[in-house]
Amino acid sequence: MNLQQSILNADDYAPGRYARTKILRQAGFDVIEAADGNQTLELVAERSPAVVLLDVNLPDMSGIEVCQRIRRNPKTAATTVLHISATYTESQHMVHGLENGADSYLVEPVDPRVLVATVRAFMRARQAEEALRRSNEELQRFAYMVAHELNEPLRTLTTHAQLLERQLGDQPESFQFLVRGAYTMRSLIDGLLRYSQAIQGESDIRQIDAQGLLAEVLFSLDTTIRVKGGRITHDRLPLIVADIRIEHVLQNLISNAIKYNRPGVPPEIHVSARQEHGAWVFSVRDNGIGIEPQYQDGVFRIFQRLHGRDVPGHGLGLALCQKIVEANGGRMWVESEVGVGSTFYFTIPVQEETRAANIGRN
Ligand code: ADP
Repeated sequence: MNLQQSILNADDYAPGRYARTKILRQAGFDVIEAADGNQTLELVAERSPAVVLLDVNLPDMSGIEVCQRIRRNPKTAATTVLHISATYTESQHMVHGLENGADSYLVEPVDPRVLVATVRAFMRARQAEEALRRSNEELQRFAYMVAHELNEPLRTLTTHAQLLERQLGDQPESFQFLVRGAYTMRSLIDGLLRYSQAIQGESDIRQIDAQGLLAEVLFSLDTTIRVKGGRITHDRLPLIVADIRIEHVLQNLISNAIKYNRPGVPPEIHVSARQEHGAWVFSVRDNGIGIEPQYQDGVFRIFQRLHGRDVPGHGLGLALCQKIVEANGGRMWVESEVGVGSTFYFTIPVQEETRAANIGRN
């Protein structure tokens, strides 16, 4: 069976389900069936159907909740969900379904030709998305290969530059420029390699204690924090279900908060998390130099740097953080005031299984 093309038909009303399955099979689709919400969630996770036809009125949980759970799980979030209902047929029901993550809302009785045409239309959109994803992957591989191929000759260049530096003693200024240029290029290529490895890497989703993660990040940044005389405080952080690369996000935000401090003002950083609209909103607040409003979106673009060459970096960190957060179904943004400080935010959808464990952690 071509799973990419399969449809999950979820309805507890057997006669309606059979009829719909028959229509779709006759139109050439592979159809699997579910009779309640839990079975739907299991099949979506196991079989990755391209489209889920989801009855709004299911016995164990509402179709709306099933759809929300599909969206919250990063592995299933991109599934196409079409609600179908013979009971909830008013405009406000349709709006509610669509605003909670459904891609479309069909009201019974649906003309079989409309049902088939609607599914075909969503399949086309999915194929276009798939083609885009593949071309994006190719571009990422290309960037990786370029960085990888450049790395070797640059390594030779910097190694020999080092040898010459030792042998020559007093060097002409132009030689020093040459050496510095080679080092900068090497560290840029290193950064690019790490960036493309991280965005191509398989996501590894687990239950993570964000509190423990923060402790590890602070440990690894200990020397940098001390050198700058920084102080970091935090709230009690929750248990989340996310890609382990989220550590990189915390690490990068805190290390930037230390790096971009105001001259003579030691960094004061506060890390916190609050729950809002089904997501954890993490924030890293600093008292640093701040970012002018017109540049606040731009800092998430690759190679975008606002501050002087005296601060080390290549403008890859925030671009990578945003990619990791978005791959986890979240978003990332910054609020900032020049000369006062910046707060970087990112969200991680709350997963059901951590709800109970998080109660009483604060
Ligand atoms: P890098 O730090 O390597 O330049 P990033 O992608 O992490 O790359 O950041 C991009 C740019 O955003 C930085 O060059 C800096 O100008 C700005 N920036 C990032 N974090 C902060 C911060 N906490 N305060 C002020 N500016 C920041």
